Amino acid sequence: MIGMARRPIIAGNWKMNNTIAAGKQLVKDLAPLVKDNKDVDIVVCPTATALAGVAEAVKGSNIHVGAQNVHWEKSGAYTGEISTEMLNEIGVEYCVLGHSERRDYFGETDEGVNKRAKAAFAAGITPIICCGESLEIREAGNYIDHVVKQINAALEGFAAADVAKLVIAYEPIWAIGTGKTATFDQAEEVCKAIREAVAKKFDQAAADAIRIQYGGSVKPATIKDLMQQPNVDGALVGGASLKAKDFSEIVNF
Ligand code: PGA
Repeated sequence: MIGMARRPIIAGNWKMNNTIAAGKQLVKDLAPLVKDNKDVDIVVCPTATALAGVAEAVKGSNIHVGAQNVHWEKSGAYTGEISTEMLNEIGVEYCVLGHSERRDYFGETDEGVNKRAKAAFAAGITPIICCGESLEIREAGNYIDHVVKQINAALEGFAAADVAKLVIAYEPIWAIGTGKTATFDQAEEVCKAIREAVAKKFDQAAADAIRIQYGGSVKPATIKDLMQQPNVDGALVGGASLKAKDFSEIVNF
């Protein structure tokens, strides 16, 4: 059943880029370039300050908005965090969680990713759960174990029927922002292993339905071949999502 009818999802992770004005301009430029695309779920993930403005600016278009993080508690003394209610209020539909930059620079843990993912999903926000290995782990050869462990931890406590609706992003850290993209075979190998792990932990239906993106230096020139891989259902795009033309060429692959 692998490769069957999963709708592609391509998300732009803006990271710490774009003011409100720049973000609105970017989606204004992007919207006409992607308006005829009916085959792909198109998502942009601005910074917290630009979320509301961008969510307003994409109204009436086929562009959806995602946040870059969300907290698991409903409200309270959590300085610097954002709640699901705050994202719901402005129409945010997705949330990137456990990005390697959060894990490496801000101490995000597998347990935290799991708590955030459960809270987001319960609030109707689709988590885009990131996983991926460092160059050191890749070279040591145990990268599949590493990624499967991250995914098993992130999905702990979910029901199989809900897992089917989640999005996972496999992003080898050595390919992020380096221009050093994984080969299509390398992307497929790990995305397939993630799908098999989901089948093992939950069931085949969840594994067949869950969408798995590849991320790491995805460019207009590489997306077509990437999307040919049977277990790759989309992309999480950093640098190339900051330019309307490049991102439109990626989503219109
Ligand atoms: P990149 O970033 O496309 O700039 O490599 C991808 C990501 O970190 O999501």
